[in-house]
Amino acid sequence: MSVADEFAQANERYAATFTKGDLPSPARHVAVITCMDARLDPARFLGLEEGDAHVIRNAGGRAADAIRSLVISQQLLGTREVVVIHHTGCGMLSFTDEQLRQKLHDDLGVQSDLEFLPFSNLEQSVRDDVATLRDSPLLLKDAPVRGFIYDVKTGRLHEVQ
Ligand code: ZN
Repeated sequence: MSVADEFAQANERYAATFTKGDLPSPARHVAVITCMDARLDPARFLGLEEGDAHVIRNAGGRAADAIRSLVISQQLLGTREVVVIHHTGCGMLSFTDEQLRQKLHDDLGVQSDLEFLPFSNLEQSVRDDVATLRDSPLLLKDAPVRGFIYDVKTGRLHEVQ
């Protein structure tokens, strides 16, 4: 059985007692950008319920990769605050664009100039992404942007100034 089959079975159980079919979205008018890392459960470590927030996830929680979704979040769905959360032990600290492009070449036979947005300094990556969002002409100037690091060993967030 594939994992997708397991998901379908789990969903049968979930839907059997589901009662949240009429939620506003997003009730707390906030968008969170964070990493896709499987160890991060933003709903739990931020105290979010269904309908509370947009949670935009990608490799690293990189801002440049989230602009499209954030424009939609702000312009069409009314979010007015942005929180960026990177994390300790992130896979984005472990490779370079050149290495991954070489792997694509070796494994798939393709040449790519895709930018994978890895980083070598966690606090700096948060500062960079907060700056990217504050400076983006596509985003609301009066929507505050704050940046945090989530520690996968302790479950704690700390703000990056
Ligand atoms: Zn990560």
